[in-house]
Amino acid sequence: MDRIAIDRTRLAALIERERQTYAARHPESQRQLSQANHLLGGVPMTWMRKWSGGFPMYMSGARGSSVTCVDGHEYIDFALGDTGAMAGHTPPATIDAVVQRISQAGGITTMLPTDDAEVVAAELSRRFGLPRWSFTLTATDANRWALRIARLVTGRPKVLVFAYCYHGSVDETFAVPGADGQAVSRKGNVAPPVPLHQTTRVCEFNDIDAVQRELAHGDVAAVLFEPAMTNIGIVLPQPGFLDHLQQACAAAGSLLMVDETHTISAGPAGATGAWGLRPDILVIGKSIGGGIPSGAYGLSADIAERVTSMAEQGNADIIDVGGVGGTLAGNALSTAAMRATLTQVLTEDAFTRMIALCDKYTAGVQAAIDAARLPWSISQLGARAEYRFAYPAPVNGSASAAAADDELDEFVHLWLLNRGVLITPFHNMALMGPDTTAAQVTRHTELFTEMTAELVS
Ligand code: PMP
Repeated sequence: MDRIAIDRTRLAALIERERQTYAARHPESQRQLSQANHLLGGVPMTWMRKWSGGFPMYMSGARGSSVTCVDGHEYIDFALGDTGAMAGHTPPATIDAVVQRISQAGGITTMLPTDDAEVVAAELSRRFGLPRWSFTLTATDANRWALRIARLVTGRPKVLVFAYCYHGSVDETFAVPGADGQAVSRKGNVAPPVPLHQTTRVCEFNDIDAVQRELAHGDVAAVLFEPAMTNIGIVLPQPGFLDHLQQACAAAGSLLMVDETHTISAGPAGATGAWGLRPDILVIGKSIGGGIPSGAYGLSADIAERVTSMAEQGNADIIDVGGVGGTLAGNALSTAAMRATLTQVLTEDAFTRMIALCDKYTAGVQAAIDAARLPWSISQLGARAEYRFAYPAPVNGSASAAAADDELDEFVHLWLLNRGVLITPFHNMALMGPDTTAAQVTRHTELFTEMTAELVS
């Protein structure tokens, strides 16, 4: 089928129309922004300025699969906090556990263990197959601390990542290949402490020859990766790539370090469970606390044993100044939230429903793309799907980055938002949660079909 090119003049006019609608619908958001005089960038976190329409929408409340803005509009929420609220907004089981913790027993942060942590670790072990766990409050910290452990046990200094990966604000990971293949800083990386090639090797996702070439240097402690890239659109692994990657790591003595923070969408045990991966280290954050800051990293029996014996011999200070841990990590509130979320909310049944809804969502988007003959593609990973303004779907991070299109992003986001649907900012991603309904997916399909038809009419 021939795919048609987008008329940019028409697109600019449509964006202008949608911007005006957005501004007219959100006077209170604009007012609140105009009064924020003590916040850097006017927002609680500077990235909140990156919002289609020129100013961010302020939230007044969120429940299940919906959010409401301060101007009183309700939205079907397919962003779900970019996975932080994958369990749905304020899931009742998590709230009960958190309230019970705070108001009955008392104690949020005490520096003392509570029994919830072992239950959570056992559940994570059951799902992901790694026997030993430690807690953090964010996926970023889980990656930082686990990377340190990888360097410790291997005695190697570097990490290998894939171009245009995202693993949180971890300095070593903001790398793309330079002209000579060495890692250079990715555009937009603020003030890296050292040149990237000192800490990092980088290659393209789905390029096993490049992985082998980089690992052959013998200085890579771990390959840190998402089994499917999810932060530059969704880039799915090609058949055999992950098997070859595992074999290459084993042969080179580099650890396989899987970041499941987003790819948990593939199923209750993430892509690791869905695709039979055997990581040495697994990192997860965001979703597992039902919105309460939580993260974790798991170690294989072998790695845990190596860390423990190094610590016992006085060669690894992991219980004092060793750079792994934070005062609030593993606190009573966070572990209570993880226990309830994992055992009662993000259950196997919930995943079955979420993935079925995402199948429906993806089919709806694909049909609309085909009907409008747009040169776009959609990729699905279990309960999450994302469309990209490229056809066919890109097979690596650089190709997907090259397909970025700020105008189309703004058009799509505003068009949907003005009609009651929120998709993930910075992405064209939709995530199904336990409370997402078939009617919400159908509504999205109707709107997406209308929007694409208007774009090409
Ligand atoms: N890992 C992955 C794969 C992520 O997508 C993100 C955030 N988008 C992180 C880690 C970091 O999560 P956080 O910002 O909550 O620390």
